[in-house]
Amino acid sequence: MAIIKKITTEYYRIPLPEIMEDAKHGLHTHFEVPIVKILTEDGQIGLGYTYTGGFGGAAISKLIEIELTNVLLGQEADNVETLWEKMQTGIHYVGHGGLASFAISACDIALWDIRSKKAGIPLYQLLGGASNKVRTYGGAIDLSFPIEKLLDHHRKYLDKGLRAVKIKLGQKTLKEDLKRIEAVRKMIGPDITFMVDANMSWTVETAVRAAREMLKYDILFLEEPIDPNNYEGHARIADLTGMAIAAGENLRTPIEFEHLIRYGKIAFPQPDASNIGGITGFIKVAHLAQINGLCVSAHGMQELHVSLLAALPNAGLLEMHSFPIDEYTMRPLVIDKTDGMAVAPEVPGIGVSFNWDKLAPFKMKI
Ligand SMILES: [Mg+2]
Repeated sequence: MAIIKKITTEYYRIPLPEIMEDAKHGLHTHFEVPIVKILTEDGQIGLGYTYTGGFGGAAISKLIEIELTNVLLGQEADNVETLWEKMQTGIHYVGHGGLASFAISACDIALWDIRSKKAGIPLYQLLGGASNKVRTYGGAIDLSFPIEKLLDHHRKYLDKGLRAVKIKLGQKTLKEDLKRIEAVRKMIGPDITFMVDANMSWTVETAVRAAREMLKYDILFLEEPIDPNNYEGHARIADLTGMAIAAGENLRTPIEFEHLIRYGKIAFPQPDASNIGGITGFIKVAHLAQINGLCVSAHGMQELHVSLLAALPNAGLLEMHSFPIDEYTMRPLVIDKTDGMAVAPEVPGIGVSFNWDKLAPFKMKI
């Protein structure tokens, strides 16, 4: 029996090599990585984690250390979906969504690590094994990059073999945004997939105006034009412009995706396993997307999402995120240069292990 006998929580706060900016969250100076290790009586160790843009990591770690540890200790680790429900129910009255979803995600990922190691097969095979690869694009928190730096940054993604890129929008004027879109499209040429992300900074009216102007640049999707909980607003933008809308990184429960797909008519749902309830939450959204005839994409956490998306028959696009988490793991994301796709790890477990020596200087008290 894999009874959970011990849970340890660690919290790392890591400075970014340069300050980055997006339209809603402003300046990013750090990213945070709360890590949880779950130990079972039969000697299994599961590793799970979540991440933030520099705020809330200590509180998330504390939630795991006190509240979720109480829920999980003494439980059978194999019952991942049941434990997911228990964690959700346990904290629902005081913490539905929000920080709780990050804490639950870290624990859920650790339970899947144990499940995959016990099965002796890599995560992408355990989850369905549709493929071991997924289409990938380079994302960037590049709102404040001058145009030359913006072009250089995305040229580097193409040099790595990627065939799709995404830039941030939300400059002071639409004219400035359009100038950047035009410059990037010109640099990447007509065959590279191009997407844009406004980080929730617009009104519906601004988004409609912007989307109409952008159509001629062959944009695959416009990401997060408005507040993610304004479901009908997304549908108005799509209906009035014909632009495909992407969103999801700021939703914290699978049911919110149900609303965003049904009422918001989004074309590209983008859950993030670090905040949607881990792998269990992500797979629920992936199935929901499939039922609605959509592919599922991902936000951030490329080192884990590569295994999730590769596994799924309705995989969309994997985002290669700006936070340099790859520098602190033992297997930076692998890109197959022949087709620009990311390749899932072949080891049993979640396929993510940290470089503890490199992380050590950034360990913080919880
Ligand atoms: Mg985004």
